[in-house]
Amino acid sequence: MTGTHSRVAIVTGAGRGIGAAVARRLAADGFAVGLLDLDEDGVRKGAEAIVADGGRAIGVKLDVSDAGEVDAAVSKVADELGPPTVLINNAGITRDNLIFKMTEQDWDSVLGVHLRGSFLMTRAVQKYQTEQKWGRIVNLSSTSALGNRGQVNYSAAKAGMQGFTKTLAIELGKFGVTANAIAPGFIATDMTAATAERVGMSFEDFKKAAAEQIPVRRVGEPADIANLASFLVSEGAGFISGQVVYVAGGPKD
Ligand code: NAP
Repeated sequence: MTGTHSRVAIVTGAGRGIGAAVARRLAADGFAVGLLDLDEDGVRKGAEAIVADGGRAIGVKLDVSDAGEVDAAVSKVADELGPPTVLINNAGITRDNLIFKMTEQDWDSVLGVHLRGSFLMTRAVQKYQTEQKWGRIVNLSSTSALGNRGQVNYSAAKAGMQGFTKTLAIELGKFGVTANAIAPGFIATDMTAATAERVGMSFEDFKKAAAEQIPVRRVGEPADIANLASFLVSEGAGFISGQVVYVAGGPKD
């Protein structure tokens, strides 16, 4: 990246798991980072750790599906760190159930966090990106976008993230803004630990069984996603836009 671009990144869902790893990695790459999450304690600790390592970071509590909170949080990052030009839409939840047992609340909350949340965040951040004539958007999709039993809500949301990404790439490209999606397979985080619990398996056994189905014979770690996010927001990735990259230890589409 040249010195003329704002090096301020926002990562949602940065309180733990993949978002926390991406925030740490972007800070190591030289970005000032706004860590945003429902979990105030998680983002405060994450920001403190980055500052202790000599970086710049703030933690901000928000619900990404609340328009007022989103606008306030993005303004706070802009005021305290500078105009945000990198956005990682990572906040996510699962509310798994077979369709005959799925409630409207399960459906609305999952689409609300992933799709409405990413829309609200991107609408707020693109203002700074287009002003700066440079930006990078990375959206978290999932291999579940291709279909996964018990996840009609989540797979619809994650497939939606792919269309959202491609349209952002088309609309914002002329402003120097790229948009890409990362579609992880099995990544060891609290989210997959909760799935193990739901199906009545220990997390160790669940990971072992998953690894047997993955060509590289291991499950993913948050750093596997952070490595790609780091590249996609770099200057060198400026001609890659509207793509979905599966990070799943094997082919998925
Ligand atoms: P995680 O460990 O459950 O972390 C998700 C974070 O998002 C949590 O800190 C959570 O806060 C936060 N969050 C949830 N709802 C929010 C909201 N409305 N506003 C702000 N923050 C909110 O999940 P992860 O495994 O790191 O997953 C990160 C992303 O990758 C998600 O989009 C997920 O769908 C995607 N993904 C994960 C996997 C995987 O195998 N782990 C695979 C494919 C895709 P609280 O702690 O307060 O709930």
